[in-house]
Amino acid sequence: MSNTDFSSQNGAGGPPYANGPSQNPVALQPPGPGYMAHQTPYNPMQAKGPMPPGPGLYNSGPYQPIPPVSSNQALPGQPMLKRPPMGPQHSMTPPQSASPNPGSRIPPAHATPPPVSANNYQHAPAWQYGGTPPMGAPPSMGAPPPMAMPPLRPVGNHMTSSPSLATPQASSAEYRATPPVFHNAMQPLGPPTSLQGYTQQGHMPTPGNGAQVPNSFDHLEMGPKMAGPLPPQQPGPPTRHMGLSYPSLPPGYQNTSAPPNAATMQHPVQPSTQPYSHPPPYQQLSAGPAQLSPSLSGLSLQSQTPEALRVVNLLQERNLLPLGPVTPPTPCLPQDLQKINCHPEVFRSTLTSIPQTQSLLNKAKLPLGLLLHPFKDLSQLPVVTSSTIVRCRSCRTYINPFVTFLDQRRWKCNLCYRVNDVPEEFMYNPVSRSYGEPHKRPEVQNATLEFIAPSEYMLRPPQPAVYLIVLDVSHNAVETGYLDVVCQSLLENINALPGDSRTKIGFITFDSTIHFYNLQEGLSQPQMLIVSDIEDIFLPTPDSLLVNLNECKELVQDLLRSLPQMFGKTMETQCALGPALQAAFKLLSATGGRVSVFQTQLPSLGVGALKSREDPNQRASAKDIQHLSPATDFYKKLALDCSGQQVAVDLFLLSSQYCDLASLGCISRYSAGSVYYYPSYHQQHNPAGVECFQKDLKRYLTRKIGFEAVMRIRCSKGLSIHTFHGNFFVRSTDLLSLPNVNPDAGFAVQMSIEENLVDMQSVSFQAALLYTSSKGERRIRVHTMCLPVVNSLSDIFAGADVQAITCLLASMAVDRSVTASLSDARDAMTNASIDSLTSFRTSVLTIQQPGLLAPACLRLFPLYILALLKQKAFRTGTSTRLDDRVFAMCQLKYQPLAYVMLMIHPALYRVDDLTDEGALNVSERTIPQPRVQQLSVEKLSRDGAFLMDAGSVIYLWIGRNCNPNFLTQVLGLPNYAAVPLNMNMLPELDTAESQRTRAFVGWLREQRPFFPILHVIRDESPLKASFLQNMIEDRTESALSYYEFLLHIQQQVSK
Ligand SMILES: [Zn+2]
Repeated sequence: MSNTDFSSQNGAGGPPYANGPSQNPVALQPPGPGYMAHQTPYNPMQAKGPMPPGPGLYNSGPYQPIPPVSSNQALPGQPMLKRPPMGPQHSMTPPQSASPNPGSRIPPAHATPPPVSANNYQHAPAWQYGGTPPMGAPPSMGAPPPMAMPPLRPVGNHMTSSPSLATPQASSAEYRATPPVFHNAMQPLGPPTSLQGYTQQGHMPTPGNGAQVPNSFDHLEMGPKMAGPLPPQQPGPPTRHMGLSYPSLPPGYQNTSAPPNAATMQHPVQPSTQPYSHPPPYQQLSAGPAQLSPSLSGLSLQSQTPEALRVVNLLQERNLLPLGPVTPPTPCLPQDLQKINCHPEVFRSTLTSIPQTQSLLNKAKLPLGLLLHPFKDLSQLPVVTSSTIVRCRSCRTYINPFVTFLDQRRWKCNLCYRVNDVPEEFMYNPVSRSYGEPHKRPEVQNATLEFIAPSEYMLRPPQPAVYLIVLDVSHNAVETGYLDVVCQSLLENINALPGDSRTKIGFITFDSTIHFYNLQEGLSQPQMLIVSDIEDIFLPTPDSLLVNLNECKELVQDLLRSLPQMFGKTMETQCALGPALQAAFKLLSATGGRVSVFQTQLPSLGVGALKSREDPNQRASAKDIQHLSPATDFYKKLALDCSGQQVAVDLFLLSSQYCDLASLGCISRYSAGSVYYYPSYHQQHNPAGVECFQKDLKRYLTRKIGFEAVMRIRCSKGLSIHTFHGNFFVRSTDLLSLPNVNPDAGFAVQMSIEENLVDMQSVSFQAALLYTSSKGERRIRVHTMCLPVVNSLSDIFAGADVQAITCLLASMAVDRSVTASLSDARDAMTNASIDSLTSFRTSVLTIQQPGLLAPACLRLFPLYILALLKQKAFRTGTSTRLDDRVFAMCQLKYQPLAYVMLMIHPALYRVDDLTDEGALNVSERTIPQPRVQQLSVEKLSRDGAFLMDAGSVIYLWIGRNCNPNFLTQVLGLPNYAAVPLNMNMLPELDTAESQRTRAFVGWLREQRPFFPILHVIRDESPLKASFLQNMIEDRTESALSYYEFLLHIQQQVSK
C-alpha cells in the first residue's frame, strides 16, 4: 500500500455518511437537492480538513422523515388500540417468590488492581522494521508530570482511582440474581389511582394463529396512554438537582415497614452492607457532582491525572496490550449509581462521559454512539409480572433506577424530566413485602429487567413459534452433503426447538421447481407437492403445509429421515431461490415466524436470479472493490414484505463458489434475520467445515428466539439518535422492526447532541425490546444506562471507550464502502484516528512533547484502525473473495462488540507453557489464562506453540523447534514433522498438558455463540498465510506495519 492511499481523498464528493442505507432502507430514492444541504457538515467517515460550519461531527442533522412504504407501513387510518376499561383491580395470584432475594443485589465491582502497569516502556530490542530509522532517543517515559494536564473538573470523580481501562467492570455477577417473579399479591389501599389510565384487569387473549397481522407495532411499544388530555403538569424543567433526598415519610408509612434502623434514615450515606432481607434504608441515588460533599469534590481536584489520560507516546511505548482482555471504562458516576448501571456487555457508549454540547463533541472528533446486545443470553434476569407497568406519561420511558423520586408519590422521568405520579400498586414492594417503598421495587433496582406484558401490549394474540425450513436440493446442493447434516440436526433437536403446544413447522425444497410437503395429521407418509410454475407461485394446499409440530411429529421425522435420499440422484442443476422465498413468504404471512434458508449456489431461475459479478483477477486489487451493493432490489423488497408480516429470513450459505452474498444477504438484513456462511463446504473435503456447521446449527435451532418484536431506544432530552446499524427495518424514526430477535444479534446507533445539556449532570439511555416469547408470552426487556455529562475535552477523552469507538467506526465504514467506495471508507477510518489524536494534542495537552501522543484510554486506537484496514472487509491488495469480504462486512454490522473485536484484533497466546498460575476456576474446571501477546511474527518463537483466537477461527501455530513435550503430551505426535497439514482437533490425552490446553480452547469456544474451527498450523500448512495475515503489527507487501502507520499518523497530527 502506498501512502497515497491515506492522503488527500478525504471522501470529498461522497454523500454524508450518516443516514446510511440502514437508517431507512427503503427511502433510498434520491431525496432531492435540499436533502444533503442540512445533513451533517463533518463526519468521521468523510473528510479530514477544515470543519464546515454546523453542529455536527458525526451528526446526521435532523432526522429524515420516512416516506410511506409499501405494505410494511402502518395503515394511515389504523386506529389506536383502545385502552381497556378502568375499574377495580382483580386480586392477583399469590407471589411465587415470596422470600427476599439476596442474590438480586449487585455486588460492587471487584477491586482488582489495574491490569496495565503504569509504565510499560521497554527498550524494544525487537523493534525491527527494515529500513525505518529509529526514533530519536526516547525521553524518559515516566508518567508525565501532573501539570501536563489541565485541572480536571470533578465530574463525580469521587474516587482517585482511574475511571478508565484500568478499572475492571463489575463482573457478570450482576446477573446472578435468582429471577424473582413479582406478583402483586396485595392491594393495600383502595382502588388504584385512575390517573394512570393503564391499569388493567384484562387477561391474555386466547392464543391463536393470529389470522390478521397488524402492520404496525409502533403504538404498541408506545404503550397505552391516557385517552384524554393529560392533566395540567409542569413540563418539569431539567433540574440541577437530580438527586433530591428522599423526604421523611409520614409516620403512618414508617409503621408499615419500619426501617431496621430509623436513625439511618437521616444518614443515607451508610454503606449498604446489610443482607437483602434487611435492606438498607433508602438512599436516593445522586446523579452528579452537585451531590458530592465538598470534601469529596476537593479530593478529585487534588487527585493525580487519571490513568485514562496518562500520556502515552505511541512511537516509544511498544507493548500497549493489557495482560488480559481490554475492559471497558467505568462511567464516572457516584458509586451507588454506577453499581446499578447497565452491564457494558449489554449496553455501551463510545463515550462514557457525554459532552455538554455538540460543539464540544465536534472538538473531540470522536464518534458518539451506542452499542447494544439487547437479547443477550443472561444467566439470570429479573422478571416482573405486574398489572401496571410504570412509565412516564409524556415520553413513555419505563421507570428505572435513574429516575428521581421527588417524594413518595411522585417521580421525575430521567429522560424528559416530567413529573409523574407513583401508581398506588407501585407503593407495595413485593421484595420486602412492605408498603411505601417505591424506590425499592425491582423496577428501580435493576438496570436490566423483563416485564410480562399485559394485553395492551398486543395487537393480536401472541403468535405461536413458527419454523419454515427451505432447502436447496439441486445437484450442487446434494453433492455437498449438507442435507444430511441439516436433517440429522433437526431430528436430534426437534424437541429442543423453542416453542409450546402451538409450535408449527413446515418444509419447502427447491431446484428448478418448488416442492411443498403435506404433513397433515392422518396421512401415512409425507406427501410431496410440486409447483413447477415458478413465475406465479401459489400454495397447493395452504392449510396442510404448516403443521402443528407436536401433532404431526412422526410425519415430520419421516420426512427428515427420507429427504436426503429423495434427492440423492438428482441431476437438476437449476436453482429457483427467488420463487422459493416467495412461497415461504406466502406460507408464513398469516402467522409470522422464522424462515431458515439453506442455499448452495447462485440462484439461476425465476425472480431474483443472479449472475456472477466477481472477477477473480480483481480479488487482490488495490483499486476500489466493485459489487459491494446488491445487483437487484428483489431480495430487499421481499425482506420488507416479510418484515411487514412478522417473518424473518435466516440465510445459510454453503458454497464453494461465488454466490453474490451482497445481493442475497438483503433478505436477512432487512427482515432482521441472520446470515451464516460456510465457504468451500463439502462433506468429504472439508470435515472441519462440517463440524462447524453442525455446531452452529445446533445452537441456531435451540437458542432463544423472540417473535414479532420491536425495539425502541430512547435517550434524555437534548440527545438524538440517528443511523442504526444491524439487521432490522426502521419502522419509524426510532422504532426498529424485528420480526425475530435472537440472542446473538448486536446493534449500534449513532447519536448527536441537539440541545445543550448544560443543566444536567447525567443523561440516560433506555432500550426497550417488546417481543413474543416462544411460549406465547408478550414480554418487554428493558435496559437503562446512565452516563455523566461533562464540559471539558479532557473529561470526554478520559471516558473514551476505544473498543466501542472502533466497532461503531467499523459499522459506519461498511456503509461508507457501499454508498461511496472502499477507499473512502479506509481514508475515513484513518482520518478518525488522526483527528482525535490531533484534537487531544492541541486541545487537551498543555505541554507539547515530541512523538505521537495519545491518552492511555485511546492508546490502542491506531492499532485497531490499522487492524480494520487489514481486516477482510476493508483490506486491499490481498486476494479476498468478494463473498468473504461481504460476509465480514455483515458480521461487523450485526455481531455484538465482543466478537467484532476478536475479528478485528485477534488474541494471541503462547500455549506450550500453560500453567495454572492465575487460572480461572469455572464450574470446577481450571482454565489457564496466558497473557495476550502482540500480533507480530517477532513474538512467535520457534521453540513454542502459539494460539490465535480470531473469533470464528482459532489457529494453533507450532514452531519448528517446538518443545517435544508439547508435541507428545498435547498433540500426541512424536515430532514436528509428524504434524499433519490439516489437523483440526486436539486429541484427548490423559496428560496435564493436554487437559490444560483443551480446557483453554474449550473455554474460548464457550465464550461465543458460534463454533470456531481449530486449525493446527505449521510452516508448510496451506493456512499459514491466513494466520500470518492476522499479524497486524507486521508489514506485508500491500500494507504498512504498525510502526509505519504510526509514523504516517504522526505526520498528519503534527501538520
Ligand atoms: Zn419522560
